[in-house]
Amino acid sequence: MTASFCDESKFIKRASPAKPAGEVKIEHNFADFKVSPRLKENVLSKGYERPTLIQDRAIPEILNGSDLIGIANTGTGKTAAFLIPLIEKTIRNKEEKSLIVAPTRELAEQINIELKDFSKGMPIYSTVAVGGMNIRFQINSLRRGSSFVIGTPGRLNDLVKRKCLNMRDFSNVVLDEADRMLDMGFIADIRNIFSGLRQERQTIFFSATISKEVESLTSSFLKSPVMIRTKTGDTADNIDQDVIRFNRREEKMDILHNFLIKEEFKKVLIFGETKRGVQGIHQDLSSRGFKTASIHGDKTQNERRIALRLFKEEKVNILVATDVAARGIDVPDVSHVINYDLPHTYDDYVHRIGRTGRAEHKGTALTFVRAGENTAPRSPREGFRRSAVRQNRN
Ligand code: AMP
Repeated sequence: MTASFCDESKFIKRASPAKPAGEVKIEHNFADFKVSPRLKENVLSKGYERPTLIQDRAIPEILNGSDLIGIANTGTGKTAAFLIPLIEKTIRNKEEKSLIVAPTRELAEQINIELKDFSKGMPIYSTVAVGGMNIRFQINSLRRGSSFVIGTPGRLNDLVKRKCLNMRDFSNVVLDEADRMLDMGFIADIRNIFSGLRQERQTIFFSATISKEVESLTSSFLKSPVMIRTKTGDTADNIDQDVIRFNRREEKMDILHNFLIKEEFKKVLIFGETKRGVQGIHQDLSSRGFKTASIHGDKTQNERRIALRLFKEEKVNILVATDVAARGIDVPDVSHVINYDLPHTYDDYVHRIGRTGRAEHKGTALTFVRAGENTAPRSPREGFRRSAVRQNRN
C-alpha cells in the first residue's frame, strides 16, 4: 500500500498507450537462453514469441543458480520465469527436485498446467498437493516420484506430518505470491516448510508487493538474493481504471446491468465482498438472463473448478468471485474487472484488477463507489489484520 486507500483517485487511471518494443528494453529472445532445444520448442509452441520483462531478467539469474526475489505485478509472466529455468535444471540433472508453494489450489493447478506444457515429451513428473482434494491420490503420486511438487502450505505440511513428503529432498524452492500467502495467514506453515529444507538449495520468491513481513521472510530464507523489480507502478500501465458512482445500494444492480449489456463487456470478472453477497449477485444476474458462474468459499473444489472452466471456455462470460476464491486465477483475455464491493485494502485492489490486462493486453477495471462517500484512510497494517480475519468469510 502506498497511499491513502480510500482516496477515490486511486481507482482512476488511464491506460498508457502500448509502448513501442524498443522502450521496454527486453534484452533476450527465448533463443538466447541456455536451455535445451526441446524446452525452447515447447515454449514457442505455447505461443510465447518473446520473453516478458520478468522472464528476460529472471531466467538467466535462476539458470546461474542465484537466489532471487522477483517483484512483479500479477500477469507479467512470472510463472514461466521460474518454470523454464527449473525445468532446464531438471533436464541437466535428474536428481533436482523443486518445491513450488502457492497460496491457492487454483494457482497451484495452473502452475502445473504450465509445467506440463513446457515439459511435454520429457520424462518430468509432478504432484499437485493441495487441500480439498483426495490426499491418497497425492500420496500415491508422491510415491511414484515427482521432480516437481506444487502445493498449498497447509496440505504440504499435512503430507510432511504423515511422512509422505520430506522437505530435505528439495534442491529448489519457489514461494509464489509470497505477499498473498502472508496476507492469508500462512506464515506459520511457511516457516514450518522452510525449517525442514536443506541449507544447500536455490530459493526463489515472487511477490507483487514487498512489505516488511515479506522482507523478514526473504532475509531469513534467501542467501544474497538478486532482486528483480519489473513493476513500474502499483498497477499495470495497460489497465484503464475508473469508478462507477452510485447513490443507493439498491441501484447498483441496475447500473451493473447497463454496463454488462454493452458490446465491449466480453469477459467480466466481478468481485463481491462476502460469500453470500457473491451468490446474490450471481443469482440476480442469472435471473436477468446473463450467463454467469460464481466462485467462493462455500463451493466445493469441484464446483469451483467447473465454474472456472465455464468462464475460461467462454460458456459463461461473467464470473462473480470473492477475493480469496479468485486469488491467482489466470484466465486469459478478461476484458473487465468490476469491483461491485470495495476491496478491503489497496493491495487487494491491485490483485483484483491484475486479473485483466494480462500479458500486456489492454484491460479495464471499474470500481463502484458511493457518491460523496468519505471513508477514513486505512493503514497498511490494518489492511493486513482485516484480511487475515476475512479468510473465514470468503
Ligand atoms: P503469469 O504472470 O505467469 O500468471 O502469466 C500471465 C499470462 O501471460 C499467462 O496467461 C501466460 O500464459 C502469459 N504469458 C506468459 N509469458 C508470456 C510470453 N512470453 N508471451 C506471451 N504470453 C505470455
